[in-house]
Amino acid sequence: MGVDNFVNWLWDSAGSLHDNAAYLTELDSAIGDADHGANMDRGFQAIVALLDESSFGTVDELMKKAGMTLVSKVGGASGPLYGTFFLRFGTALAGADLTPATIGEAFKAGVGGILQRGKAELGDKTMYDAWAPALDAYDAAVAGGADLAGALTAAAEAAAKGRDATVPLVARKGRASYLGERSAGHQDPGATSTTLLLESAARTLA
Ligand code: ADP
Ligand code: MG
Ligand code: MG
Repeated sequence: MGVDNFVNWLWDSAGSLHDNAAYLTELDSAIGDADHGANMDRGFQAIVALLDESSFGTVDELMKKAGMTLVSKVGGASGPLYGTFFLRFGTALAGADLTPATIGEAFKAGVGGILQRGKAELGDKTMYDAWAPALDAYDAAVAGGADLAGALTAAAEAAAKGRDATVPLVARKGRASYLGERSAGHQDPGATSTTLLLESAARTLA
């Protein structure tokens, strides 16, 4: 477990977001401005370019650089939110051993950053509806003695349930909230990309 796993996470995420870009944009076309797939793909391709041209000695350095890249390249609502996640995640791991517990603390710090910037509540039909149950499931798995692979798998499964549960919700944050009741019946794009990132983490980090 080391910086290579995190490089692989970013690489695998970039591939998954690229493969799902049309799908994410289709979801965003129903309740937003049809750019979420393109936004995420652009941001993660910029991260891949960064991985190709530099090497990183520590996880915090890598994650902070990834976060800054997302803030500057993704734009929209999701860029600053995902960027803040990675910045806080990296900052929390500075000087720390990589264990399920410290990664859980970093996960919590990252989600705290999303909450602080976006001010979404559970049920507002945003990416937070995937992050919050994922973090809870991760913590519960670690408390129950799970290893990193088990905890990340639990997190990814909980994110997927949270994503599915956004379908009937009326959006209260972001562009989708402009539609009011008409936002119901559609899956939130950001909760969908969050689930892809966590499924990628479960594949690569442990
Ligand atoms: P934009 O809506 O600016 O075009 P994107 O399409 O890239 O940005 O991202 C849209 C996603 O961002 C939404 O599906 C939602 O999950 C997320 N989002 C929007 N506003 C917020 C918020 N205040 N808090 C958390 N997530 C949000
Ligand atoms: Mg959009
Ligand atoms: Mg936009």
